Amino acid sequence: MPELPEVQTVADSLRHSLANATIHEVKFLWPKISGNLPHEEMARRLAGKRILDVGRRAKYILIRLDHGTLIVHLRMEGRFYIKESFQATHKHSHVLLHLDDDRRVEYNDTRKFGRFYYYDEGQALTVLDGLGKEPFDDTLTASELHKSTRNKKTSLKVWLLDQTHIAGIGNIYADEICFAARVSPKQPVGRITLKQWETILASTRSILWQAILSGGTTIRTYTSSLGITGRFQLELNAYGRKGEACRQCGTPMKRIVVGQRGTIYCPVCQKVR
Ligand SMILES: [Zn+2]
Repeated sequence: MPELPEVQTVADSLRHSLANATIHEVKFLWPKISGNLPHEEMARRLAGKRILDVGRRAKYILIRLDHGTLIVHLRMEGRFYIKESFQATHKHSHVLLHLDDDRRVEYNDTRKFGRFYYYDEGQALTVLDGLGKEPFDDTLTASELHKSTRNKKTSLKVWLLDQTHIAGIGNIYADEICFAARVSPKQPVGRITLKQWETILASTRSILWQAILSGGTTIRTYTSSLGITGRFQLELNAYGRKGEACRQCGTPMKRIVVGQRGTIYCPVCQKVR
């Protein structure tokens, strides 16, 4: 599932290609992708709108129109293709946005879990309600995290995945953050010290930032015929390394389940305290 850095990469790619383009006609080939309006209604409201900018909030892509906002959540497998009108439609493309410059944006999603939300100008973007602060928000501090978690029994991994705390972290980066901070994914957050929260927050920012930078390099080689998934090569220290040697101490990395999610950690470097 794309997390904050991948969604940022997709948003940047879309902004690069689509800013100032006008949507001519929209077709929902799978009606349920339309998350907050009947699909015909959403298609009608999007037609004729010009794309001003594309940004991100948590794992949502925000497409700002000259009137209103289209919000897309890619969920598990969502991706975009930008094609010339004469090119064939990709299998599993469920939403087609025909642009008035003869290009077509295809929203492709094998598992059909992704969703589109449309809000008219001035309407509250309710799908974003309840999201926590962005990791790079200057007002997000370790002391705030420390204070808000006293005596809480939630494990750090589950806490990191909860989008109401810090927005944008998913399974891959949660494992990477725990590893970098040398804290067990099972560590109850209520017993994490202020010093540890400082390390956790700093690790969160540096890991996500490196991933965004690494994604940025894929934009330069991006061409309109390729699918924009935001995936890229980034060296991971925990995720996907079950049984491999810990890069810190050499102990085999272990897989456990935390909050129903597969979790990889080093049993020596990341002890519950
Ligand atoms: Zn280790």
